[in-house]
Amino acid sequence: MRTHFAKLLKQLKKNWATSNLEVVRKAYRAADHAHHGQIRLSGEPYILHSILVAQILAKLGLDPVTCAAGLLHDVLEDTKMTRAELQHEFGDEIAALVDGVTKISSLHLPGQAVTYEVKQAQNIRKMLVATAKDVRVILIKLADRLHNIRTIEFLPRAKQERIARETLEIYSSLAHRLGINTWKWELEDHAFHVLMPQEYKMIAAQVATKRHEREAQLNETIEFLDARLTEAEVNARVIGRPKHLYSIFNKMATQGKDFNEVMDIQAVRIITQTEAGCYNALGVVHSLWTPVPGRLKDYIAMPKLNMYQGIHTTVMRENGKPMEIQIRSEEMDKTAREGIAAHWIYKEGQRHKDKKLDEQLSWLRQMYEWLKDAHAPEELMEAMRRDFKAKYLYVFTPKGEVKELQSGATPLDFAYLVHSDIGHHCIGAKVNGRMVPLRYHLQTGDVVEILTSKNQTPHLDWVDIVVTGRARTSIRQRLRELGLLEPVEAPHKHREARPHQVIRPLPRPVVQQPVRNVDEPTRQKMICIDGAKGLAVQFGKCCNAMPGHAVIGYVTKSMAVTVHRADCKSFANTYRDAARVVPASWEGDQVLETAVRVVTGPRPNVLADITNALRPMNIEILRAQYGPGDNGSSHFDFVFEAPDHETIERVCRTLGTLNGISQVTQLDVRGHAPRELAVAG
Ligand code: MN
Repeated sequence: MRTHFAKLLKQLKKNWATSNLEVVRKAYRAADHAHHGQIRLSGEPYILHSILVAQILAKLGLDPVTCAAGLLHDVLEDTKMTRAELQHEFGDEIAALVDGVTKISSLHLPGQAVTYEVKQAQNIRKMLVATAKDVRVILIKLADRLHNIRTIEFLPRAKQERIARETLEIYSSLAHRLGINTWKWELEDHAFHVLMPQEYKMIAAQVATKRHEREAQLNETIEFLDARLTEAEVNARVIGRPKHLYSIFNKMATQGKDFNEVMDIQAVRIITQTEAGCYNALGVVHSLWTPVPGRLKDYIAMPKLNMYQGIHTTVMRENGKPMEIQIRSEEMDKTAREGIAAHWIYKEGQRHKDKKLDEQLSWLRQMYEWLKDAHAPEELMEAMRRDFKAKYLYVFTPKGEVKELQSGATPLDFAYLVHSDIGHHCIGAKVNGRMVPLRYHLQTGDVVEILTSKNQTPHLDWVDIVVTGRARTSIRQRLRELGLLEPVEAPHKHREARPHQVIRPLPRPVVQQPVRNVDEPTRQKMICIDGAKGLAVQFGKCCNAMPGHAVIGYVTKSMAVTVHRADCKSFANTYRDAARVVPASWEGDQVLETAVRVVTGPRPNVLADITNALRPMNIEILRAQYGPGDNGSSHFDFVFEAPDHETIERVCRTLGTLNGISQVTQLDVRGHAPRELAVAG
C-alpha cells in the first residue's frame, strides 16, 4: 500500500512541486485508519481503491486538496467517521467535497417504489446541486466511477450491467461535457465490454488482426504529411489517432458501416505550436488532398461548449478512401484531453480566474437552474439523455449573437432557448429572412427570428416538434398549467382513455423516380458521392448517367470522380483499380415505404423518443398508431420512408436500443430499391 501511496505523491509532485503535500499524507493516514479491515470484492484492502481514485485525479493534474478529498471520498458512506469529525480534522473545503460525493451515491426515497429512472434523475439533480457549488465533486465522483468500472468484474452480473448502463448514460456524458476525453473513452470502453461482451470481443479481435498492416500504412501517411509540413515551414508534429472500441462500434451501428469501412478511414492529428500554425497546416493538407465538402469544421473560431478547440477536415486520399484530420495547437490538445482540469489552476488556495473555466461552469449552473424547476423525474432523465447525446449546431439571433442547439432543433427550440415566454408565445419564425414552418430543421449559420403574439399558447403537438429537453420541459409545464396535459402522476390513464388514436395521419404515396434527362449542371447538383454532395465530378460519355439510373463513381488519378451507370459495360471492361470505386447516388432518388411495429413497456412519450432517435438519420414518421397490449405494454405501428434496406435495418437496430422498447418487427416494405429501378435500355 505504501508503494501505491508513494506513487500518488510522485504524481502530485509533477504538477504541484512547490505545494505542501501534508494534507494528502494526513488524508491517507485518516482514510487508512477508517477503512481498516475492510476488503473489496476483488480481495484487495479497501484503502487501495481510495489511493487509486486519488491517483486518477492527480494524473489529470488536479490539486492536492482535491486528491486528499479523493482519498477520503468513501469515509462518510462506508466507515464510522462522521461529517463533524471530517470537518474538524480537514476543514470545510474537504468536508464539503466528501459530503458532496457521498450525497450523489446515497439516496433513499421513503415510502414509494423507486424506479431506476427516478433514482437516477434524483442523483443527477443532487449531483448538479453539489456541482453548482464545486465542480470538483463531480471530478471525484467520476474518478471513483472510473476505478470502480476498471474493477467491475468482481461484482455480480446484474450489478455490473446496472453500473455499466449508468456509466454510459450519465457518467461518460458528464466527462464529455467537462471535456475530459481520456476519462470518457475509458468509461465507455469498460461499459461497452460489460453490456455487449460479444460485440466488444469481436471488435477487439478485429482491431488486433490487421493492426500491423494498418499501423504501417498509417505511419507512411504520417511521415509523408510530416515531410510536407516541414517543407512548408509549419512547426508541427503528426500523430495517428487511435479509435477506441466503443467509438468503432458506434460508427458501425449509427452509420451502418462494417468494421473494415470504419477502419479504412485513416485518422491523423496535427499538433502545431500556435493557433496560426493550425490554419497554415490546414492549407498544406488541402493542397495535398481534395477536401470533402461539408466536412470542414472550425472549432477554433467557434469552440464547443466543453471548451474543445481544433479544426476538423476530411480529405480524399489517392486510393479514393477518406481520411479524417484534426488540427490543433499543443494548448488546445491539452484541453481536449483534460478538459476542465486543464484550466483548473489553484494559486495559494484561490482559484485562478480562467475565462474558459467560468464559461464551462456556467453551463453546469444553467443546467442546474433548469433542472431545479422540472418536477417529473422521468422527464428529467429523458431531457438529460437527449441533451447529452445530441450533436450541436450554431445559429444566430438577428443581432448576431451565437446560440448553440442540438442538431435536429427547430425554430421552436430556438425560441425556448432565448426565453420560455418567447417560446410560449411563438407564432412563427423567419430563417434568413424567409418564413419557415415551426418544424423546419435549423442549420448551422441560420439567422433565426421568432415572431410572437401575446394571444398564443403552446399546442399539444409542440412536444413532438421540439428536440431539446429544455423546450420540452417548458412546454409540458405550461400545458399542465393550462389543463391541456394531465398531471405527471397519471400518464397511463391518459393514454388508455384514447386507444388506437391515430397520431399523425399523413399518407403519402411511394415515390418512384423515373429516369429524367437533365442538363449537366443539374446533374452536378444532384449527384452524391459516398453520401457527400458538391464534389467535382464528371459524367462518363460512355453511358451518360441520368437521375434515376443506378450509378457508381470512380476516383481518377487527378482526384476527380467520374460517374458511370452501375451497369455501364464500357466501364466494367476498362477500369483498373477496384479500390477506386466509390458509392454514388442521386439526391432524393431512393424511397422505400416501410411499416414497423415496436412493442413498448408502460412508459410515457415513447413516440417522442422514437421520433427523436430517427431524426438524426433523416427519417420522418409518416403515420403512426398505437394500441394497448398485454401487461401494460403498448404497440406502435408506424410508417416511414427510407432510401434503402440498410437504412431500414439500421432504424430497427436503433429502435431496439431505446429504453422501454422490448420488440421491433418489420411489418411491410413497399416499393423497390431505386438503385434497381432504372436498368439501361
Ligand atoms: Mn468509491
